[in-house]
Amino acid sequence: MKYVMKPEKVLAVTLLIYLLYIGFQLLAMNYPSSSDKLRIAQENVPYATVQRADNLWAYYLINAENPLPRDFTVGLDYVQGNFMLDERCAGYARKMIEDAAADGVQLTVVSAYRDVQKQQENLEAYTRRLIGEGHSSTEARRLAEKEIMLPYTSEHNAGLALDILTPDWWESHDDVTADFENTEQFRWLSENADKYGFILRYPKEYENVTGIIYEPWHYRFVGIYYARKIKKSGLPLEYFYKTNF
Ligand SMILES: [Zn+2]
Repeated sequence: MKYVMKPEKVLAVTLLIYLLYIGFQLLAMNYPSSSDKLRIAQENVPYATVQRADNLWAYYLINAENPLPRDFTVGLDYVQGNFMLDERCAGYARKMIEDAAADGVQLTVVSAYRDVQKQQENLEAYTRRLIGEGHSSTEARRLAEKEIMLPYTSEHNAGLALDILTPDWWESHDDVTADFENTEQFRWLSENADKYGFILRYPKEYENVTGIIYEPWHYRFVGIYYARKIKKSGLPLEYFYKTNF
């Protein structure tokens, strides 16, 4: 005998399927889809989508052994006041300053892009100052070059570096000094600078590798991808660049 479903059974099954369908729709409304979850994760972790290729132009060494080419030029954009950086990373710096301010931390830029002429003047002025403090001219020059790079060898000449202090720094200091590390600005930067593509370029333990004294105020743009990796590695750019490219 052929089985035929009774009309009331057909109705019951149809109703059940319909209720299950409505139920799933309601559940879907309360739970984000997988693409929504991904979006939420990315919003909370701004560098989640950052690729190695992003801002690869900024990932190179500038130091005494690796000077900028003599015909180096750069397009500039404002970061804070009259201070400018390479126009390709100025926006990252502005966002960093803005977000720090939203956290109640005022980052004051005291140096950014410097042309090579200014670099030369700074070096000479600092050498004169050290001579004034009693150093011989050779010694003064040697000491000055440990703090102020020769023209074409400074990241400031490339428009990739920012020196950042507190707004009231000069009220209690007449120089940029390592005690900047005791400020809330430094703490904020240590925690967040990598999210905007900046690294603490001259760490404390690696003066012999970078050739530069510990500079807690100096931040270098390398792009978010590498900033994050370099921060995690704890290594200076010189070492990281050679081993992890
Ligand atoms: Zn600097």
